[in-house]
Amino acid sequence: MRTVITGGGGFVGSHLCERFLAEGHVVVCVDNLITGSLVNVEHLRSNPNFIFYRHDISHPFEIDAPVDNILHFASPASPVDYLRHPIPTLKVGSLGTHNTLGLAKLKKARYLLASTSEVYGDPEEHPQREEYWGHVNPIGIRGVYDEAKRFAEAMTMAYHRHHGVDTHICRIFNTYGERMRLDDGRVLPNFMGQALRGEPLTVYGDGSQTRSFCYVADLVEGIFRLLHTDFHEPVNLGNPNEVTIREFAEEILQLSGSKSKIEYQPLPQDDPKLRRPDISRARKLLGWEPKVDRHEGLRRTLEHFRQRVKDGSAKMG
Ligand code: NAD
Ligand code: UDP
Repeated sequence: MRTVITGGGGFVGSHLCERFLAEGHVVVCVDNLITGSLVNVEHLRSNPNFIFYRHDISHPFEIDAPVDNILHFASPASPVDYLRHPIPTLKVGSLGTHNTLGLAKLKKARYLLASTSEVYGDPEEHPQREEYWGHVNPIGIRGVYDEAKRFAEAMTMAYHRHHGVDTHICRIFNTYGERMRLDDGRVLPNFMGQALRGEPLTVYGDGSQTRSFCYVADLVEGIFRLLHTDFHEPVNLGNPNEVTIREFAEEILQLSGSKSKIEYQPLPQDDPKLRRPDISRARKLLGWEPKVDRHEGLRRTLEHFRQRVKDGSAKMG
């Protein structure tokens, strides 16, 4: 089996590379490292089944070998990253999806698109079921990500319906774990970095907005199962255990034993107020649900960030 993983040098992608290698696949990782890092796959590079191409997937990618699976995970994913790279984000969701679908058609490969809960925007339905069409501001600052992913879903369904490609779409809800970048701007790396450095935790708005956090190992299991179904409509993958951002900050303070204070800062534009996946479809279709509870997942992730913060301060002398 040969599996192409775009964005394999990123947080989720690197865990997928590990999983497919463990299943005995040859893994072809394609990444331009715009938000990822070779450090994430350093431990895989001595494996003869692991091949890394530094390439921007918004440009066509050719491979002179059979391909069985393509997982399209390339895209800036943190709001800070996609606001810093708005046009590359639009391009990788549109052109990158088109290029990878073209490759899947040519190679007769299975295809899986990494979509997102952001397709629901600032939802007016709670929790979010796959049938919900969403509430997205196309011209708002988050539109570059949300609309690119919505386009990517439309393109994926068209390749399935029109060309018969064996496609799958997972809508991923906030996922966390080892190998997230300390400075990617998402809430968990921010709070953990701040707690470990003894700086104030920056809660945006009044912290009453909610998210539902899924540990990366659970997500990877769901993705692996979804790829091997004959189901083509989107499937939510996430942990339905919902928490307010204020409670989340307190949880991280308690877990880390940090004496940091909480500091309130303005809420960014179009920040979704509520987010929780309805995972009935994944439960039924995949026999899947998250296994790692938030306390355990956060404990493991904190160890990773403790090391990163140590390495960072060692570098700064
Ligand atoms: P990440 O930033 O760590 O990883 C993304 C990877 O894609 C990086 O290695 C980056 O360099 C690469 N990339 C970006 N543009 C590229 C391009 N044009 N060509 C080649 N490589 C490119 O982010 P992540 O959290 O690992 O997210 C991975 C995927 O999962 C993304 O598609 C994201 O939209 C999706 N997703 C993630 C979450 C989450 O909570 N982590 C939630 C919803 C969706
Ligand atoms: N957030 C916060 N402080 C931070 C970073 C984020 O309060 O330092 C909030 C953000 O406003 C949002 C939630 O935490 O309501 C999750 O933000 P994140 O950037 O992780 O991802 P999102 O789910 O918004 O894509």
